[in-house]
Amino acid sequence: MTSENLPVVVIAGRPNVGKSTLFNRLVGRRQAIVSDMPGVTRDRKEGEALLRGRRVKLIDTAGLEEAAPDTLYGRMRASSESAVAMADLVLFCIDARSGITPADAHFASWLRRQNRPVLLIANKAEGQAGTNAALEAYSLGLGTPLALSAEHGEGIADLMGEIAERLPPAEKNRRREAPKTEGEEEERPAGPLRLAIIGRPNAGKSTLLNCLLGEERMITGPEAGLTRDSIAVELHDEHGPIQLVDTAGMRKRARVEQHLEKMSVSASIEALKMAEVVVLVIDATLGVHEQDLQIGRLIEREGRACVIALNKWDAVEDRNATKKAILDRLEISLAQVRGIPVVTFSALTGAGVHRLLPAVRDVYEIWNSRVSTGELNRWFEDALERHQPPLVDGRRLKLRYMTQVKARPPTFLLFGTRAEQLPDSYKRYLVNGLRETFHMPGVPVRLQLRGTK
Ligand code: GDP
Ligand code: GDP
Repeated sequence: MTSENLPVVVIAGRPNVGKSTLFNRLVGRRQAIVSDMPGVTRDRKEGEALLRGRRVKLIDTAGLEEAAPDTLYGRMRASSESAVAMADLVLFCIDARSGITPADAHFASWLRRQNRPVLLIANKAEGQAGTNAALEAYSLGLGTPLALSAEHGEGIADLMGEIAERLPPAEKNRRREAPKTEGEEEERPAGPLRLAIIGRPNAGKSTLLNCLLGEERMITGPEAGLTRDSIAVELHDEHGPIQLVDTAGMRKRARVEQHLEKMSVSASIEALKMAEVVVLVIDATLGVHEQDLQIGRLIEREGRACVIALNKWDAVEDRNATKKAILDRLEISLAQVRGIPVVTFSALTGAGVHRLLPAVRDVYEIWNSRVSTGELNRWFEDALERHQPPLVDGRRLKLRYMTQVKARPPTFLLFGTRAEQLPDSYKRYLVNGLRETFHMPGVPVRLQLRGTK
């Protein structure tokens, strides 16, 4: 689909400030993408808008708040995080009638740390309403607020101009820049996203696949799964096709009763190699098994993007305690894939399964993403200041600059005098900082070192 290469504009802010109204105003009813595939589009509203002759992809984060439990702050953040991560521009909305609330301030301070271009919007400012709040909004530290009324259509033309001015230049969209080094970059292929669903036997992989397909499309005959090495199964969501890799092998493994433990890991390696994104299915009633962690480490080693699926959620009694226990275990044992997206559902009843593919798409975007050298080095200077590089043999390492050499997964090259001697602890500090600042949860981040004279 052509919309893949459009600049992404994300509308964010606390509930009720008018995000949906603004979205509809900018997209116009005719262009709104409405899919009648159940469960697929509910999590995120996306549409295309034409702004001063530029087509952009617009994402409305409204309504996502309901998806996650937790506090208001947690919800706002969780719902916007993945969208903001792929934004070329964030439209941060406040309600000029109610003034700046603590939730606005909280969200603004988080947003400032995301290093994404932001345009501050004081909505509901029809007539002279909300002039004070618009002035007060300067204090959010997100630049000059633009007062407008989404509902009454006031200030919309100005807004379109302001957006157009802030977009990356037409041909080189920052996130999908052409590779700088010939041969270094594996280009994003045109075909379907390649997805592997893996996990221990009985975790519910086949049930999940059937649920995603919406019908018993898997080969379930007594011997069929055993006699074929691979069958191509394709799913579709509103972004296009998704190819499931190694589904036959999955079936086969589930049926072979002996040697299960060994087989599922070695066969997982094969599926992993063919996949771009991996869904690791865990039986939530059993908690995290050492084998799950082994697969997790494999995913990181192979450089794949990952989503963790906690299945059989219908059979979990204390959901909060279970989720916490599982997340704690993953956090401790899989530090490399920090912040990894976790989706809970029941493949058997179908409840919650609609959240899986959007999470897969998000992590795929992040896996493909690029950080501009400018942004990267502004962060890098900061990181060096906060924590000086360590002394090695009594001399301080001189780290000079960083550049992203490839995506899929994001790989950074760090130049400096004797950079190759950088201790692991400092490397981890940098990788964690990169992951957090540029929002790369659930994808492996690589850091390579190159010494200069
Ligand atoms: P969201 O939760 O941020 O998506 O907010 P909505 O778009 O659902 O709007 C919340 C409420 O604010 C609705 O009742 C809208 O009609 C109202 N609203 C949106 N824009 C404006 C505006 O420009 N002026 C006024 N007075 N109300 C607005
Ligand atoms: P696979 O070996 O990973 O492909 O697992 P299956 O899909 O064959 O499922 C193993 C068993 O778990 C079957 O008896 C399923 O009915 C059951 N199961 C799968 N998903 C769920 C779920 O969401 N809830 C419950 N309660 N049982 C499930």
